[in-house]
Amino acid sequence: MKVLSVNAGSSSLKFKMFEMPEEKVLVSGLFERIGIAGSCYTIKLNGEKITKEAVLNDHKDAVRILTLELINNHVIDSLDEIKAVGHRMVHGGDVYSSSVVITEDVKRKVRELIPLAPLHNPANLVGIEAFEQEIPSCVNVGVFDTAFHQTISEEAYLYSVPYSWYKDYGVRKYGFHGTSHQYVSWQMNKILGRSDTKLITCHIGNGGSISAILNGKCIDTSMGFTPNAGIMMGSRCGDIDASMLGYVMDKTGLSMKEVDNILNKESGLLGISGVSSDSRDIEKGIKEGNERCLLAQKMYVRRVIDYIAKYYVLLGGADAIIFTAGVGENSIEFRKQVLEGLKVLGVEIDLEANNTRGVLTKITTDDSKIACYVIPTDEELMIATETYKLV
Ligand code: AMP
Repeated sequence: MKVLSVNAGSSSLKFKMFEMPEEKVLVSGLFERIGIAGSCYTIKLNGEKITKEAVLNDHKDAVRILTLELINNHVIDSLDEIKAVGHRMVHGGDVYSSSVVITEDVKRKVRELIPLAPLHNPANLVGIEAFEQEIPSCVNVGVFDTAFHQTISEEAYLYSVPYSWYKDYGVRKYGFHGTSHQYVSWQMNKILGRSDTKLITCHIGNGGSISAILNGKCIDTSMGFTPNAGIMMGSRCGDIDASMLGYVMDKTGLSMKEVDNILNKESGLLGISGVSSDSRDIEKGIKEGNERCLLAQKMYVRRVIDYIAKYYVLLGGADAIIFTAGVGENSIEFRKQVLEGLKVLGVEIDLEANNTRGVLTKITTDDSKIACYVIPTDEELMIATETYKLV
């Protein structure tokens, strides 16, 4: 069965088509600058990458061109062959704890959740409606980034603020990157050959989050009400003392919106180093003797270790720690520093095995008390798998 995995942003649409259940990638690509001058798209097929300019007034234009390209390149003979489209949805609130076939009622609920994800949920809905109109015969499925974290208990997802904030306004931990945590924990359980496992999954990219997963179910995660909680990130601050905000606003005269923008876009590695949000630039800065880059890296590593330690205690041990996403998959130095900081738990790094980027690898020695792995994430495949299961 041919299944499309789609991630619609406000001006972009990323796609990957799989033959399921074989998990074979047939074609992938990206439509960019939708509704903006200079729109274009890229298609990757048979190892070849083609970029073309096109008029993309809206997401429907993108889906129409996508279907034409699929037919012209003989990926499909007719649109009926696309049985299902799985959509990456950012926020399912506490309404969706698993993936769901999209109906009018689901769209209404996702619309009601817009205040919780004002940038993402509207774009996700636009993507769904484009496919509904252009390929009416296909089934659309929503795969929520928050769903995997819905198994977290009340005592972990509530903030110690007035209970009415939760009841009246939905203020609680939701967690994000759920599809990625779900995917790597699923792969890890396959490697271990069992599902009664205690796993700590570290999705460390430009954004980053860490989850504690017991027997395949998430019991805690580091992101919160928004993605700006937990560990330090590329440009997000992660956990801070909330009461510093009023103080800084008084001192600077900045508005809440301006402060929030700084906490999301000018903090983290960027805020401390003053150089970049990209860990490659931080590592380069360290080699050049930049003290602030060194400080940023120390803080970054320390906060990851803090969360792993916290989840190790929560889980009552760990069978495996998994690193994924841009930094987790590619930064040899970052992983080395984190694992060295976990030595007290009996973690023994295999320096030679750790010397790899972007491939599935066990990076600890056989006598390490906890096995640590790099598992490249594949959110598109997770979305296709969820979609295939439902359809
Ligand atoms: P993501 O958000 O998962 O796409 O991750 C993007 C981030 O991965 C970039 O901002 C970099 O900080 C990091 N990254 C990618 N490649 C490398 C590398 N070779 N070494 C260190 N960090 C990397």
